[in-house]
Amino acid sequence: MASETAEAAPTILDVVARRMCVGCGACAVRTGGAVPVTIGRRGYYEADPQGADRATLAAACRVCPFANESPDEDEVASEVFASTLPVDGRVGRYLGTYAGRLADDDAVYRSSSGGLTSWFLAELLSRGEVDRVIHVGPTSSGPRLFEYRVASTAEELLASRKSAYYSTTFADVVRGLRGDGRRYAMVGVPCFVQAMRLLTREDETLRDQVRFLVGIVCGHMKASGFAESLAWQQGVAPEDLAKVDFRIKSPHDASAKRYRFGAWGTGADSPVAQMPGRLVGGQWGHAAFQLNACNFCDDVYAETADVVFGDAWLPRHEADPRGMNVVITRTDAADRILRAGATAGRVRLEDVTVDELAQAQAGNYRHRREGLAVRLADDIAEGAWVPRKRVEPGYRVSRRRLRLVRERRRLAELSFTLFEEAKVAGDLRVYVDRMRPLVRRHDRISRPLSRRLRSRATAEAWRLVRSIRGVGR
Ligand SMILES: Cc1cc2nc3c(=O)[nH]c(=O)nc-3n(C[C@H](O)[C@H](O)[C@H](O)COP(=O)(O)OP(=O)(O)OC[C@H]3O[C@@H](n4cnc5c(N)ncnc54)[C@H](O)[C@@H]3O)c2cc1C
Repeated sequence: MASETAEAAPTILDVVARRMCVGCGACAVRTGGAVPVTIGRRGYYEADPQGADRATLAAACRVCPFANESPDEDEVASEVFASTLPVDGRVGRYLGTYAGRLADDDAVYRSSSGGLTSWFLAELLSRGEVDRVIHVGPTSSGPRLFEYRVASTAEELLASRKSAYYSTTFADVVRGLRGDGRRYAMVGVPCFVQAMRLLTREDETLRDQVRFLVGIVCGHMKASGFAESLAWQQGVAPEDLAKVDFRIKSPHDASAKRYRFGAWGTGADSPVAQMPGRLVGGQWGHAAFQLNACNFCDDVYAETADVVFGDAWLPRHEADPRGMNVVITRTDAADRILRAGATAGRVRLEDVTVDELAQAQAGNYRHRREGLAVRLADDIAEGAWVPRKRVEPGYRVSRRRLRLVRERRRLAELSFTLFEEAKVAGDLRVYVDRMRPLVRRHDRISRPLSRRLRSRATAEAWRLVRSIRGVGR
């Protein structure tokens, strides 16, 4: 009895109490639903470990990507990938490092970035490497707009390309397929991939079934308020919102970054669309509706995925409206499939360096490494529980960055409360009018006056050059 009371409390309780649960569903799968994962008022999935006994909680902790009882990404990667692979602290282990896109422009425009993620998953099916793919796509009917589901054909999979910046869980889908004798691939953001690795470590049945893990780079996950607030600002109220497309692209766009967010009201044939950065909370850096779990993640390139795809935010690729992927392969099998696509002329692939991969995600590293160190140090100073991370707590940033890290955290938190109030009041202004000054303050810190004047002068100069050349008439 004495040793039982001396035992440390299961940290999944802290993870949930501190709202650091990302809702992946690994705990629900591992415990056969004894730790359920449900959608909360704030529009994202969270585990509910309250009713579970000690043994159940211990099992849940071992598969939770944010609990201290589970191994971190370095440990897991060292178990699953060849020890001969080079390692870099920023991207983890790597075999091939590329930038690339599909050769078929039509398909690229129907994808978020270079289209390689859905192409790769479809290849796994077509080549018979797996029987099914666990992926995320739009729901056919509400109230949620996106969900994890299972595709059995390439056509089915390719019908739902594009990123869902929207909270989902794999709990039900994976519980449903466990033990069905089929082979699966799964796509997920880094913490979901890590969660699935943790599950397969503990569960022999799933280990046998899950043959490929495909990662997508993640800046942070969004609650449903992100889609709802952007749609509402364009006249589609949350109760009328039937469908969204986070990344509408066109050959006429000035760059890959100038995609639009589209929203369909019930029964609408076409969307209302706007560049997200022009809407309150639409700029990624403002962190509106960012899950708090993402404040405590240090994995940018899904370090435990067999292959990972992201956006090639590199100067030489950004200007192309089609979009371009960055890619890291970590297994021979994944590398071979990608290279075969290039040899067959279906994929355009070029080698990039690890430095370029890091450069393509520079903002992401500021958030997940420097910013994480600050958030950990802040919370420790307040006496709050923090998860064990691969980043040392500390203030190794400029004063401006320190203010920015704290401001973003505040903005994210306030976006939830203000939007909830707006929905209760049935008045979008409750959200927009109170978010706007906070966003402005964030931007003043992010881009001080001198920098803003400099970029305004550069923009003016470009406008002048364009008018002399007669462009844009
Ligand atoms: C929340 C989130 C944040 C992201 N942040 C960044 C970032 O900061 N930097 C960056 O470079 N890239 C980021 N990405 C990835 C980026 O948006 C593209 O998904 C990626 O570049 C792949 O593009 P693609 O054209 O190859 O994908 P597509 O060919 O369009 O296929 C997308 C595939 O991803 C799957 N998918 C979509 N949404 C999800 C989801 N929520 N969870 C699991 N699978 C999903 C779909 O099932 C589909 O198979 C993020 C993605 C998400 C979901």
